[in-house]
This record gives sequence, structure tokens and C-alpha cells, in this order.
Amino acid sequence: MRCYNFNGGPGALPQSVLERVAEEILDWRGTGMSVMEASHRSKEVGAMCEETQGQVKSLLGLGPEWAVVFCQGGASLQFAMLPLNFAGPGGVCDYVNTGLWATKAYDEAKVCGAAAHLAATSEAEAFTYIPSSFDFSERPAYVYLCANNTVRGTRWPSFPKNAPGPLVGDFSSEFMARRHDLTDFGLAFAGAQKNVGPAGLTVVMVRKDFAESGKKGLPHMLDYRTYVKNDSMYNTPPVFSIYVANLIFKWIEDAGGLSEIEARNEAKAKKLYGFIDQSGGFYRGTARVDSRSPMNVTFRLADENLEKPFLEGAKKEGMVGLGGHRSVGGVRASLYNAVGLDAVDCLTSYMKAFMDKNG
Ligand SMILES: *Cc1c(COP(=O)(O)O)cnc(C)c1O
Repeated sequence: MRCYNFNGGPGALPQSVLERVAEEILDWRGTGMSVMEASHRSKEVGAMCEETQGQVKSLLGLGPEWAVVFCQGGASLQFAMLPLNFAGPGGVCDYVNTGLWATKAYDEAKVCGAAAHLAATSEAEAFTYIPSSFDFSERPAYVYLCANNTVRGTRWPSFPKNAPGPLVGDFSSEFMARRHDLTDFGLAFAGAQKNVGPAGLTVVMVRKDFAESGKKGLPHMLDYRTYVKNDSMYNTPPVFSIYVANLIFKWIEDAGGLSEIEARNEAKAKKLYGFIDQSGGFYRGTARVDSRSPMNVTFRLADENLEKPFLEGAKKEGMVGLGGHRSVGGVRASLYNAVGLDAVDCLTSYMKAFMDKNG
């Protein structure tokens, strides 16, 4: 039996996609082999990768000035590739620190020798909100932000306007969960395993001229131009992960595209936050209301000693992955695309029963 999976990442995937993967596992597209066994130079895999790039562009409404490339090394490798490509040793780049993943990106820029500058941080208030005023450098190579903060449950309500450099962003935990406005971005990336497939694939959307403006002399695998020039086929790309992402993107298209997905996600989040807010303080959301993430709903119980039995009881009822990130504790319900309203209903019923019993 399938459980209700509220994991923060890797996260839940749509059942119909998993069934399709199972169906095709021995004979993919009439090749007589699984997609994992097919050559990445074959015309079938080539066509599938190209189709996937097209899906990303069409779902996000990206024009021909954008390239979609497939990297490995997770979102975490992007933390290094960005400063290496665009700032270089001593180069100035700005960071907005909104929590764990942004902190890691900022620290990595320093490891790479860049002059990373903190343009804003919400650390003093435990990263419970998204800053709205910034102390930008004069001409940073880029302005870095983390679009949705998986650990603290915050997300940018809108992105900074008139930043002094191109925005670059980590969209890992809300990629394809809503329409993304990339107008002011030079690059956006997302580790696949939160919302669009298995780990091993990082989808990078980069403006071609921005990629071209990068520093020269980097190792090939760290240079965005290598991926753009070779259509992500410089070496063996993570074919299986791309294949699953392709099926997920189809699933999104069939559902009506990103505006429909966004509406569903908003409805799920509204239901859960609404319940939390009406619990008379028994449950308490940790993020400031104007910064709340619809993807990762983080909350505490007024009596924190009840959190352990709360999580254990949920698990007994088939709801898993509700523990907060190990760095912060508490409770976190990740409502990725494949988590349905039925899962949220099941969770709020459980929360009500738990409150009635312990309140
Ligand atoms: C999970 C996550 C990461 C880390 O991703 P890896 O692919 O494991 O490197 C980075 N950023 C955000 C926002 C995440 O949610």
C-alpha cells in the first residue's frame, strides 16, 4: 500500500508516472532494453533529452535566448559552479541569506575565492521571513537567492526589482510547482529530487549570453558553456533521471500546465495553514505569514514534548516524512506536486483528532 509521503526531499512522485516507469522498464520505446541501458548517443535518448528541454522551456515560457541544460552533482554543485563561472577569484557577487541552503551557497562562493557580499539576511530572526530591503554591491556579477526555503518553510512572494546584477536562483524545492517569473534572472537551477524526479539530475536554465560571459579556463565539467555547446552530452548525462523528469513534465502538461498546478498547490497550502491558524495556538506556523511557502509547511506544537508522539501517531496512520529538517526539528509537511489534497485532508483530520485528545 502507498503511504502519504510528506518528505522534504526526495519527495513524492505521481503514481501514474511510477506505473509508467514500471511498464517500460524492460522495453523502452520498442528498443528492447530499459532506458538505463540505452546509449546516450542513440537517436531515442537524444530525442527524449531534446524533448525534455523543450518541455521545460514551454512550461516556463522561456524564449530562444535561454538554454536548458542537465547537470549532475545536485543543487550543491551549483553553489560552486556559479561563483567559479561568473565571479572568479576576487569577483564580487551578492547573496541574500534566507536559511540553510542559501548559507551553504554563500559559504561555497567564499571557498571558491569570490568576494561574496551579504546583501541581506534574516538570520537574526531565525530565517522566519524573506527580506525586502537590500544592501547591494555596486556591480555584482550576480545576485543570488534561494526561491523556496525547504528547511524554514519560506518563499519569495516576489523577486527583487532593479537589482544591480542578474538574479540567479535555487528553485529546487518549488521547481515546476508554480509559474516562475525568470525575467530578471541570468540563471535558475533545481535539483530534480524535490518535485520532478529522482536525484542525480539538476535542471539548469541559463541565458545563453550569460553563460557565454563566464570565466575562461575552468575544468570542462564546471563550465556552463560545455553543457550549452554539447547539448548536455559532453559526457553521459543522468539519462534515467531525465527520463522520469520527462514523464513528470508530461504529467504537468496533462494536468493543464503550471497555472493549474499552482492553483492546486495554493489550495493544499491554504487548507493546512488555515487549519494551523485556527487551532487556537495548539499548532503554530514558524514562518512569518507574508513569507510562507506553499511547498514546505513548517510548524510546531505549543507543547513541543507532544511533537514526538504526534509524529509517531501520524506514521501509524500512514503519513510519513513529517519531521522537520534535522537542523531545526518541529514538524514539516512538504506538499510537492504529487501530494494530493486527499493527503492534506488526511493530515488535518489527524491533527484535529490529536488536538482533541491532547489539547
Ligand atoms: C534539497 C535542497 C538542496 C540540496 O540539493 P542537493 O541536490 O542534495 O545538492 C539545495 N537547495 C534547496 C533549496 C534544497 O531544497
